[in-house]
Amino acid sequence: MTIKELEKIAYDIEIEFELLNNVQINFDENKEDKESCAILKGDIYYIRIGIKDYNDLEKITNEQCNHICNSILHELIHARNFFSLQNEEREKIINNKMTLAHYGWKVLDEYSAYKEANQVYPETADELNGNVDDVFKAFEHMGKGILIKESDWNLYDAFYNYCSALIVRYILDKQNLLKENTENYKRGVKKYMEDLEYSYNKMPLTYKQYESLGRRLVSDLLILVPEKSKKVFKYNTHIRDLN
Ligand SMILES: [Zn+2]
Repeated sequence: MTIKELEKIAYDIEIEFELLNNVQINFDENKEDKESCAILKGDIYYIRIGIKDYNDLEKITNEQCNHICNSILHELIHARNFFSLQNEEREKIINNKMTLAHYGWKVLDEYSAYKEANQVYPETADELNGNVDDVFKAFEHMGKGILIKESDWNLYDAFYNYCSALIVRYILDKQNLLKENTENYKRGVKKYMEDLEYSYNKMPLTYKQYESLGRRLVSDLLILVPEKSKKVFKYNTHIRDLN
């Protein structure tokens, strides 16, 4: 595999998604794969795929190749989802960070990227970092006391990252995720994923629909949290319009 071949794979997806004028992709030998990311500047989505883990790109295994392709497709799905929004909805979401609508949008976008990329380039649970309990513990921790020391944005972003970890685990390792946990945990996680799947089939949503999705998803997560901890959990999401 060469950079040229990777670029060709990305190019073909960009054509399929009609993204040629809105995306710039770059393969970065100084970044690790897990540092792959996308940043929006103006009307262009700049995507960086880290390839530092692969010392010699020409000699990578089929699994590694599958993994890079999965990352390329994943990031391009984010770009596609973003540009599929109506201008007005897009502006509203960008300008209303840390709201239910912003949260609903972010997690549905992530669900869609993991789900679809995995249908084309299937990955296994081996690719996951950490273990099953980490996700559960993170949510449990959020119900235990007011989290401080960081900015509201960092805490909101951390909450989003826990949700994202839950989603990827559900997609790659559903059986283990739902094994050996309390009934409430299983019920909450299942409900959360059902709500995502339902909205996924209706994408792109309007701002109002993202807002109501965000509200439903938070109440699904609250099923995981003991009654006495619900209030503090809600506070710790740092979603501004959650009450
Ligand atoms: Zn993503």
